[in-house]
Order: sequence, then structure tokens, then C-alpha cells
Amino acid sequence: MSATVLPGQPQVHYRGDELYVEDVRLADLAREHGTPLFVYSKASMLAALAAYQRGFAGRKAKVCYAMKANSSLAILQLFARAGCGFDIVSGGELERVLAAGVPAGEIIFSGVGKTRREMRRALEVGIRCFNVESEAELEVLSAVAVEMGKRAPVSLRVNPDVDPKTHPYISTGLKGNKFGIAHKDALLAYQRAAQLPGLQVVGIDCHIGSQITFMSPYLDAMDRILDLVDSVERAGIRLHHIDFGGGLGINYTGEQPPAADALWQQLLAKLDARGYGDRELMIEPGRSLVGNAGLCVTEVLYLKPGEQKNFCIVDAAMNDLPRPAMYEAFHAIVPLARNEVKPATFDVVGPVCESGDWIGRDRKLSVEPGEFLAVLSAGAYCMSMASNYNARGRPAELLVDGSQVHMIREREDVADQMRKEKLLP
Ligand SMILES: *Cc1c(COP(=O)(O)O)cnc(C)c1O
Repeated sequence: MSATVLPGQPQVHYRGDELYVEDVRLADLAREHGTPLFVYSKASMLAALAAYQRGFAGRKAKVCYAMKANSSLAILQLFARAGCGFDIVSGGELERVLAAGVPAGEIIFSGVGKTRREMRRALEVGIRCFNVESEAELEVLSAVAVEMGKRAPVSLRVNPDVDPKTHPYISTGLKGNKFGIAHKDALLAYQRAAQLPGLQVVGIDCHIGSQITFMSPYLDAMDRILDLVDSVERAGIRLHHIDFGGGLGINYTGEQPPAADALWQQLLAKLDARGYGDRELMIEPGRSLVGNAGLCVTEVLYLKPGEQKNFCIVDAAMNDLPRPAMYEAFHAIVPLARNEVKPATFDVVGPVCESGDWIGRDRKLSVEPGEFLAVLSAGAYCMSMASNYNARGRPAELLVDGSQVHMIREREDVADQMRKEKLLP
């Protein structure tokens, strides 16, 4: 049988006709642990991180893993041990990352809607920096810090307004969106921040979108941000770090995003040329560290031929893999064991009672009930977005390290789901 080129990392591959993650045969895991089942490759995650680390060799730089992509504790631990800081977007994420043993000084806090309670907790533990997204938030954060007798380290998240017409693939992240402070308002916001008694300005931050597969928007955004650094510093406000956000894309279906080290070679050249090469750098990658490292194994329950469509009904659903339903996202779907069954075209759908519950459309598959499929590139924004809709327990998660398998999250059972509920008297 011919070799199949799978999107993503070499750690997910066929040996003969059987799909492996590193040195572990996935069919064995599916039989032992049941399905749906998330399986991650440790080597793949570390390889993705290493590309950034290579790019930053010899620089003062911190990779802050944007943990909303996948916030499982063992994965946070893995990145912490590899030297990462963390970008969080809620008080819940703060507690998770602290529970993984991460020192508060390694944490930066992004997000447009931080509550006073979240601010208080982050100040109490002493996080590294708040990425502030509006002038109103500046005022509230300052007041909360003053009440506590503290000064909050802040960086303003600026919307660099990279022309969406030039880069339509990220336009949704830029035009009229709720994130960041408009470029034209940023200098005034910095001046206000510098006056507020509870704040200490430490940096500047941007995040231009997600699943970006070209270099040019990053290069444009860097120019726009450095223009602002020029004017903020001319106004006497020193910016100790420049945080360039996340957003680098991965390969779902043949996309060819730039490699992290190649991207940063260009960005650093720009930084050097403009005289800011000595500044501390931060980045907030999420998807590009974990997305290609994970997959979801699912069992084919039924084949249901139809007049217009054939359906392949599997035991994973939109509650486990929300991206297709949410964004019409594409995930490659491949068999765990390649076979000689005559291929047919199917919509791969889950058991949830919603027409939006589909995982892949018009896929050519050789399948029979009882066989297993793998939904690829499911390491990011899958388990962290999973829900209990239709009272479905969330899947188990395994982390593969060579030939070793670590259970990092047990399958949720019905008792787990009902734990916080109360019957009427
Ligand atoms: C989601 C998010 C990221 C990570 O984005 P990816 O596309 O997963 O790299 C980084 N920074 C902020 C502020 C985010 O909201």
C-alpha cells in the first residue's frame, strides 16, 4: 500500500498499514482505553517548542505557551520543564498553571474581560505582567492594585491594524474586533497608564490573529508595533519587553506555515535594523506548540448510506471536537489500520443531536463499523473546548513518550458530570 503523507509532525505515522504515535500503535491504545481518546506526542510538542528556541538562540526571549490551546496539567508541566512561561486568559487558567507547579513570575495575563477578583488573585500571587486591552481596564487594575498596596506590571495590547485587505486570511482578527487598544489611541493610553498610581508600565504586546500561514502580516505588524515603541519611548515611557503574541498556523490540510525559527530570523533582523535588538522578547504561541502533536481516536459505529450523502457515524462528536462545528474547520481523518475495503465518500458525523455535529465532510474513506479512525491535528482547541453536551463525558487523554504511555486525564464518567448538582427537596 502506498505511503500516505500525513499533515503535521513525523511522530504521527504509519508503520506498514498501522498508525503509530511515536513508538506506540494506536489500535492498542484504543482497545485498552476505549474511544473517543486523545493521544499526544511529547516529542512533537518539544520539537515545536525547539523551533522557537532555535529562533531565539542567544537572545533574551521567553516563550509563553498560550495555554487555552490545551490546558491539561501534564502538558503545562511538560512546557514548564522545557523552560516556557505561560499566557493565561482567566482566573481558572491561573489556578491550573499554578497547580502544575509553575512560579507566578512565569505567567502573563491576557484577555479583554478580566474581573476584579481575577486581578486581585493575580496580584496576590505576583504574576509577571498584565496584558491590558482597554483604557477602562487600566483604571480598574490600578484601583485594585492601590487597594492592595501594590503596583501592577502592565503591557498594553495594541491592535497593529495590519491591512486586512492585504492579508484577508487574518482579517477577522483585526477589523472591528474586541481585542486590543487601537494603534492611534495607544500613545495616550500609555501616558494614562504611566500616571496611574497602581501601575508600572513594563512592555507592549500584540496578537494579530490565529492560524496565520504567511510571514508578511507578522512583518507588517512588527513595523507598526515598533513605530509605536518609538513614540511611546519618545514620550519618556520605557518599554522593557516586546510581546509579539501567538498565532502561527499549523498544517491541517497541506497549509505550509513558515517554520518558527525562519519566521523569527526575519523578525529579529527587523528588530535589529530598527535598534531594538536588545529588548527582551516574549511570544505567546498556542496552536503551533500542540496542534499537530495530538489526535483523537474514534470508533466507527454505523455506516448510513443516503440519497445525497453517505454518513459515517463515529463515537466522537462536536462536544469532543468542537472546531468543525464552530469554525467549519478541517481536520484530516485517517484509518488506524489501512485496509482493502472499497473506498466511498462520507460525511463523518457524531452521535450528538445537532446537524452541526459533523467532524469531516465529503471524505473518501475505506471503513467498516468497528474500525477506528484518527482525527488528526487535534492537539489544540479540541480538548480545551470540549463540553458535556448530550451528557457525554469528556474523553481520556494520553501522552506518548517514545514507547511509554502516560494517562494524563481519565475519561469523565457520569458521576463526575453530576458532582456539583443538587436534586430538589
Ligand atoms: C489565543 C491567544 C494566543 C495563542 O494563539 P495561537 O493562535 O493558538 O498561537 C496568544 N495570545 C493571545 C492573547 C491569545 O488570545
